[in-house]
Amino acid sequence: MRPVIALEGVSRTYPGPPPVTALHRVDMTVNRGEYIAIAGPSGSGKSTLLNLLGLLDRPTTGRYQLDGVDVAQLSESERTAVRGRRIGFVFQSFHLLTHRTAIENVMLAQLYDAIPRTQRLNTAQIALQRVGLGHRMHAVPTTLSGGERQRVAIARALANHPYLLLCDEPTGNLDSHTAATILDLLDELHSDGQTVLVITHDPVVADRAQRVVTIYDGQLTDNSVPHSCPRETRPNSQRPFEKNS
Ligand code: ADP
Repeated sequence: MRPVIALEGVSRTYPGPPPVTALHRVDMTVNRGEYIAIAGPSGSGKSTLLNLLGLLDRPTTGRYQLDGVDVAQLSESERTAVRGRRIGFVFQSFHLLTHRTAIENVMLAQLYDAIPRTQRLNTAQIALQRVGLGHRMHAVPTTLSGGERQRVAIARALANHPYLLLCDEPTGNLDSHTAATILDLLDELHSDGQTVLVITHDPVVADRAQRVVTIYDGQLTDNSVPHSCPRETRPNSQRPFEKNS
């Protein structure tokens, strides 16, 4: 089966001056159904990698295949379409439209195709029920808790059945109890077969993933160990990273 993500020799240099190489010849494969965390401190290259994976930026050199498609070869409008249909984004700050209800926010994710409204409504209802918000579909974000807002954002990300759920510090704005419930939801989605990639500076978040790749100075190190290995003996376990900026 082809991987969801295959990066080969991917580098990203910002032109400056002075030029900054934020990613150095990165190779990475993410297989379908994997739950992977990319963990590193501030300035290590996480945002640069997120922007490349999310098709918000292009590598300076190297190749990125998303579900077998060399996305560097696509036009900007094709990349926008792939981004909208195939990648579900979850951000630290939720990025919900405040004057739209939960269900309207989720329905907006499905505007890339000419899907009839009733079908979009149905899909959004299912997505909100999936994240445990079936009873709050018509609430606006200002009346929802932080955890509920992040659930709406996750429902929106799931609405198009993405190849990849791409989460950027998904618990960064939540207290530790609520954060744990969101991480439980990501566990459940992974169990359902969803490919999940989380980018974080927080070892507690990283430690929930099936595989942890650390990033330092734009270079990746895969800390994979057999999954039978107890959590506390995994090399990345609870290693403190400095707080992200
Ligand atoms: P992180 O998200 O882990 O904090 P970034 O990807 O934002 O790391 O940054 C990685 C490196 O690239 C840092 O040295 C940062 O200063 C540099 N960098 C990020 N964006 C730019 C930019 N637009 N121009 C120049 N350098 C940048």
